[in-house]
Amino acid sequence: MRCPSCSKFVSFGEPDVEVESSEVGDDDTVTAEVRVTLPCAECGEELKERFFTVDGQIDHLCEFPLVIAKLTKEAGGDPAKVGTDEVDTAVADREFDILEATAEPLDRMQGKSKRFYGATVTWEVVCGACDTPITVTADDEEEAAAFDSVA
Ligand SMILES: [Zn+2]
Ligand SMILES: [Zn+2]
Repeated sequence: MRCPSCSKFVSFGEPDVEVESSEVGDDDTVTAEVRVTLPCAECGEELKERFFTVDGQIDHLCEFPLVIAKLTKEAGGDPAKVGTDEVDTAVADREFDILEATAEPLDRMQGKSKRFYGATVTWEVVCGACDTPITVTADDEEEAAAFDSVA
């Protein structure tokens, strides 16, 4: 395409990615809204943009000794106060917290002429039941033609 800034016919440079928001969803999922922009390879002017909603799956089995240790601590250090029901409930009701969500640009050729741009998102999540840190990654991509022009 012709770049309105430098008036040359240009290709796209390395995409810029930015996580706009991220949150925990239902059924152990995380989601992130990511803006991907394609700059002019010559002058860096942003030419195209697209918002991606990237979904990731948290694949996590609670570490029971860690759940028991956490509940014991919360019960004032007395392991006798922590029964299997409490452990089962803590695991069943577990919630995840997102500590950080970051994105890396994705840029790949398919065949000789199809070029895809997108983002790989990494969430750093912690389990509320066993305090285990979990890393989740997922990506999404589209052809440049599916991007919108930056007004
Ligand atoms: Zn340009
Ligand atoms: Zn857990």
